[in-house]
Amino acid sequence: MMRRFSISRIIPFGSLVIWLSTGVVVVALLAAFQYRSGLSELSDWTRETGTFLAEKLAQHDAHMTALAAVIRMSPAEPSASVQGLAESVTAFYPRITDIATIHVDGTSARVIAYGRPGGPVFEAEHSAGDLPVLGKPGETALRPIPEQHAYDIYKLVETGLLLRLRISAGGLLDMDRIPPGYSVSLLLGDTVLFTHAARATSILNVKTGLFASNPGQPLHLLISRGFSLGELLPLRLLMPLLIGAALLVWLGAQYRNASRERRRQELRATLLEQEARLAHAGRVNALGEMASGIAHELTQPIAAMLSQSQAARRALTLDRADILEQALDGNIREAKRAGDILGRMRAYISGAEARIENVALAEALNDALRLIEADLAQQGIALDVTIAQAPCVVAVDVISFQQVIHNLIRNAADAVVGQPGGRVVLTAGPEGGQAIVTIADTGPGIEPALLDRIFEPFFTTKPDGMGLGLPLCVRLIEKMDGTIEARNDAGGARFTIRLPSGGAT
Ligand code: ADP
Repeated sequence: MMRRFSISRIIPFGSLVIWLSTGVVVVALLAAFQYRSGLSELSDWTRETGTFLAEKLAQHDAHMTALAAVIRMSPAEPSASVQGLAESVTAFYPRITDIATIHVDGTSARVIAYGRPGGPVFEAEHSAGDLPVLGKPGETALRPIPEQHAYDIYKLVETGLLLRLRISAGGLLDMDRIPPGYSVSLLLGDTVLFTHAARATSILNVKTGLFASNPGQPLHLLISRGFSLGELLPLRLLMPLLIGAALLVWLGAQYRNASRERRRQELRATLLEQEARLAHAGRVNALGEMASGIAHELTQPIAAMLSQSQAARRALTLDRADILEQALDGNIREAKRAGDILGRMRAYISGAEARIENVALAEALNDALRLIEADLAQQGIALDVTIAQAPCVVAVDVISFQQVIHNLIRNAADAVVGQPGGRVVLTAGPEGGQAIVTIADTGPGIEPALLDRIFEPFFTTKPDGMGLGLPLCVRLIEKMDGTIEARNDAGGARFTIRLPSGGAT
């Protein structure tokens, strides 16, 4: 049997689809996993940063309380002790950029800045109207200073005396700890005090936020975490995963192919085991189809014998020995002919052992065709036969060879049955040391995707088919050292048998 190449053999579309969908699943799972771990990283970082921020804000409260106490104990200003404490606070906490006392006198305010080297320093008089109004000593108020990315905390030390701490907002966050891809903003009310923006390479952003747990300094931290493509699908994970998945799919496909092949082999083995019985059963089965054709063939010799017998009887009355002899000879000839037909039929359906012998191709074919042509004619299917004149001898088991021809013509007839003008075309002859027999039809042909499968045992597209005809043909022809090939021609299907030829009868 010769197999034809088809595009689906070169590019296995089924596997391609499995590969692609596995790839998509792997990519989606990896992205989902990375996204989830990115989210949990974000929530961890937000929680830690909240704790860190709360600690710093609590430090401001502590400094205010300590400074207010020292200010109260130093009525004369500027005070060296306030300066000493303020200097150490600003030295250790650089985010506290300015510490000042503000004396409010009616509508004017006098500011003394502490903590600077060489301080304290008197600042210019201010208008008291710019200051927050605080009722009781200890009360605090906040003022954002967006242009300096800072905010002021005011605390009323005693009536007419305020303490002011200026906090740099950026200093509240440890910049080195902000992970790449994170954007962070610090807000006081609606005023943005500080923003750190990540590089804009992200394809997906998740936002979160928290309010500092300090009632005196209600800062709002907004965090946005961007995911870049490289983060969602890091190549160092993607490549091994894709390779692993491809390997799994490949192994699966190999396993599937191996089991399919094993099943084919098992079926083939069963078929071989049953082959002789199967071939015989096929021929007996075909007897039903051939019966009407055989009956038709027998009518001719029987009708001839009848008329010869009538002639013989007349010859008797006429006392014509010559006519009588002629009629009896005719009868003998016709009886032999009928006997040949019946003998052929009996040989065909016999369970005789296969026997390879040298026969003329035309003779073997004609015997096979005689058994089927009347049947085709009854179905209105034309059978065109062209057998080359050149002598061509083949070494075949005649009965098996006829069965192959019968099966192929039967299939061709099934393909054209009911088709107006449906025809089966058989050609035969020698070619390059081989005998070639082709059986073509004008039917719909064989679906290209099925071309490789029609020789498989039990493959059939017919509702009442067994799918054993072609595999049996292949086996029988292989036993005669030949091949069978199937292909689609412009008109329909074409089966080609090649047999070694050349021996003498
Ligand atoms: P069965 O005839 O019982 O189906 P076969 O092994 O003889 O079993 O044929 C297998 C299948 O091959 C058929 O069912 C049919 O689909 C396809 N086939 C065989 N010959 C032809 C043809 N001449 N034209 C179209 N299809 C064919």
